[in-house]
Amino acid sequence: MKDAKKDGMKDGMKDARVNVVPAVPAKANAALAADHVSALSNASIEELIHEMLRRLGEDPEREGLLRTPVRVHRSLEFLTKGYNEDPLTLLNGALFTVKYDGMVIVKDIEMFSLCEHHMLPFFGKVHVAYIPNGKVIGLSKIPRLVEIFARRLQVQERLTTQIAETIQDVIQPLGVGVVIEARHLCMMMRGVEKQHSSAVTSAMLGAFRDLDTRSEFLSLIRPKQTNDY
Ligand code: ZN
Repeated sequence: MKDAKKDGMKDGMKDARVNVVPAVPAKANAALAADHVSALSNASIEELIHEMLRRLGEDPEREGLLRTPVRVHRSLEFLTKGYNEDPLTLLNGALFTVKYDGMVIVKDIEMFSLCEHHMLPFFGKVHVAYIPNGKVIGLSKIPRLVEIFARRLQVQERLTTQIAETIQDVIQPLGVGVVIEARHLCMMMRGVEKQHSSAVTSAMLGAFRDLDTRSEFLSLIRPKQTNDY
């Protein structure tokens, strides 16, 4: 027995598949999962939150928590409302033909999002720039575009890319640059990283891959010394 186990481990090191133990037959497992899912999908979000509070060790019936499931439901709907909004509809309704070939920059756009790994907030500033090629976007639509993508479960990297690529697709400018500086509560509250650390991501398309253009953009968005969001 001892030897067999040892051999098994040795084989397992060569090929991870050797160590897979057949547990519950796949069919039964799927049936169980299906029952579980149908019971869950019949529950309202309020019921799910009520149950979650109970399992976390709370008394969902105490006064302070009575309306919490309703509030959490509304809050989550608001924080993920971007799923119901279409960025292309937003931008296509606000395109203008303009003869301007300088850089358009909208900086310090406030952003609040939820990280998709922990469903905890990350927040900070978004800077967007592009060089038009005949068409521009109404300036007020850029913060709205950021909002549509931020009000979803996100990772900062994807949020950055989605903003840049959407602008690129819709107006085909000479280039787009997007920089996001954000602080993540999943890092700050859980003590994974230093409390004041922030993550910076950038997406540079077209002309913004050119060093001079990128440097111009980065110098124009450089935060003031007193920046302390
Ligand atoms: Zn996270």
